[in-house]
Amino acid sequence: MSNFVIEQYAAMKCFDVIIIGAGAAGMMCAIEAAKRQRRVLLIDHSTKLGRKILISGGGRCNFTNIHCSTDNYQSENPHFCKSALSRFTSQDFIHLVEKYKIPYHEKKLGQLFCTRSAHDIVHMLKSECDRASVKILLGCSVSRIDIVDGSPQVGFTLKVGMTKELIFQCRSLVIATGGLSIPKLGATNFGYKVAEKFGLNIIPPRPALDGFVFTGKDESFFRNLSGISFKVKLTCNKKSFIENILITHRGLSGPAALQGSLYWNPGDEIKIEPFAPLPHRFVDSFLINFCSEYLNHWKLKPSSTIGYRKAEVTKGGVDTNELSSQTMESQKVPGLYFIGEVVDVTGWLGGSNFQWAWSSGWAAGQAV
Ligand SMILES: Cc1cc2nc3c(=O)[nH]c(=O)nc-3n(C[C@H](O)[C@H](O)[C@H](O)COP(=O)(O)OP(=O)(O)OC[C@H]3O[C@@H](n4cnc5c(N)ncnc54)[C@H](O)[C@@H]3O)c2cc1C
Repeated sequence: MSNFVIEQYAAMKCFDVIIIGAGAAGMMCAIEAAKRQRRVLLIDHSTKLGRKILISGGGRCNFTNIHCSTDNYQSENPHFCKSALSRFTSQDFIHLVEKYKIPYHEKKLGQLFCTRSAHDIVHMLKSECDRASVKILLGCSVSRIDIVDGSPQVGFTLKVGMTKELIFQCRSLVIATGGLSIPKLGATNFGYKVAEKFGLNIIPPRPALDGFVFTGKDESFFRNLSGISFKVKLTCNKKSFIENILITHRGLSGPAALQGSLYWNPGDEIKIEPFAPLPHRFVDSFLINFCSEYLNHWKLKPSSTIGYRKAEVTKGGVDTNELSSQTMESQKVPGLYFIGEVVDVTGWLGGSNFQWAWSSGWAAGQAV
């Protein structure tokens, strides 16, 4: 972003809405608010829009799931996501994708992917931002947020830094900075820090949809079988997933293990019931290392999940009891909104995390 453009935005200085985080949720919120004639500024410290969208779904973005329901989400308050998901549904997002004639297909279990590339989704969102006259500032970080004259009814001031620091003002401030997964893509704890600053409770964030790591005998067992994949029923804390597991040199990955990791807490056991036919190499090694009677209901204690380096999402986040489920606005600080992954709503693998980003962004976009 050139200094010239920054100076232009600085001349405007006052916006109705400032959104921090130009990912899936932030862009959707910006589009909806600007369509309602709000003057919107979208800020990101990254120099690219929607970096996670671009790498998602192996570069093809699994942008929604046609079977998406509230049962596919984990949160301390499982009812919180109902309102937003029912007001902006997977069909609503599909309509937008179809309006832009983006080719897509169902891979399995209702998971919709771009047929060409995830770039199609980012181009679509950028076009919608441009049509609605959203102002975008990339490569900028926010170093300070204050309430104007001590009253959030009046608004917020933001110190935004690039080559020199500028002050922006807004009536509504939306935090859409996502979770902690994949730090090399620009993930930060900014959203949690803002929530803390304004006295909002946080459900401790943890990596999820990342699979399991083991130590001791289990680790050596897995290391020797690395690369083997087969279908299982994996159960963790009474939630079961029938999908493949993939044995890695440190433990378990693959869709069943990723889903199970969403429900796992340190110290918990997981149960694995394999479906025939099982790879011979696995059966032979299992019989050497463990008792044959365990083969059909194998119980394991992971030492941890793989971690933020690999996690598709961060579970936990801003406590939903602090927010309105209709608008995502803070109950304590009027005018302050949290949307997307920074909120304690985490979806299953297969498109439900983007659907939450679209739905929560849309809901806030109607209210700011
Ligand atoms: C490898 C991978 C693959 C995935 N694949 C899928 C998939 O196929 N389907 C699916 O549903 N979900 C998928 N997900 C999850 C999905 O990407 C996220 O749930 C979704 O992107 C969350 O949207 P968000 O807008 O809340 O956050 P993000 O998309 O993470 O956006 C947050 C934005 O905030 C910016 N930001 C962060 N900190 C600051 C700061 N301090 N100042 C300014 N800006 C800041 C970031 O640069 C980023 O642009 C995947 C995740 C990963 C890591």
